[in-house]
Amino acid sequence: MKSFKRINIFFFSLSTVMSIIGLYFLFTGGIRIGLTEITTFLVLYLLIAFSICAGYHRYFSHKSFTPKFSLKFFFLLLGPAAFMNSALKWARDHRHHHAYPEDEKMDPYSISKGFLYAHLGWAIHSDEVSSTVSFVQDLESDYWINWQNKWIIPLSILMGLILPIFLGILIGNLAFGLFFLGFFRIFLFHHSIFLINSYCHMFGSRPLKNITAGNSLWIAILTMGDGYHHYHHMLPNDYRAGRKWYNWDPVKWILFCLKKMKLVSALKRQSLFKSLDDQASCS
Ligand SMILES: [Zn+2]
Ligand SMILES: [Zn+2]
Repeated sequence: MKSFKRINIFFFSLSTVMSIIGLYFLFTGGIRIGLTEITTFLVLYLLIAFSICAGYHRYFSHKSFTPKFSLKFFFLLLGPAAFMNSALKWARDHRHHHAYPEDEKMDPYSISKGFLYAHLGWAIHSDEVSSTVSFVQDLESDYWINWQNKWIIPLSILMGLILPIFLGILIGNLAFGLFFLGFFRIFLFHHSIFLINSYCHMFGSRPLKNITAGNSLWIAILTMGDGYHHYHHMLPNDYRAGRKWYNWDPVKWILFCLKKMKLVSALKRQSLFKSLDDQASCS
């Protein structure tokens, strides 16, 4: 019989129930909402989404650019607010996903185990990917990444729940801080990221090659560009997920601007033609 990660089941249930209660209060007038609340929600959502999509994903997992220490620390401090574990564990799972896509044992969120497993099931089952070699040796030797990994639970509570409640008090709307800046924001971003592993891998468009990873514009909107998952699997170390200039990928535009401000360097670009050639010669 399979065993489960009880703490994850508890937290997913809690964030779902609190989101439903928050929406109930919103629609029955128990929580008021105005321009200040909407602006605060969007700013917080985007800053945390950037910490995951640019930080956890494109930097810690793929090293597709090099941030200055201040930006790296920003990722390590704000990433936990998403309640998606530490950068070290996130990157370990994600590197396995790219190394063994669709493999039932080695891909932690393998789509071959079905939509629901790829979406949420993997996060509540206790099966962990394991391999004889570490996939994150470069991260394990980093002091600040280990520091974040060690303190991930208090950091998550501090940045993901206490900070939103404090922001709610600051804007004079404690209930909005708790239910929306806290739990609903976590719930919405969880499922946005999980849809990449489920929806994009099952239903996304695949313009270049017949792999399960597909693109989705509406998921790209929710994830600051990471919905261009087909392109990303073709060129995983490119700092851009949306390859074309008009693809909705705010992370690539922000990274480009941060390079001008000298906060990041070494933005990596990969050649699509080279990638197609390499994959053709391997098959
Ligand atoms: Zn994928
Ligand atoms: Zn990736």
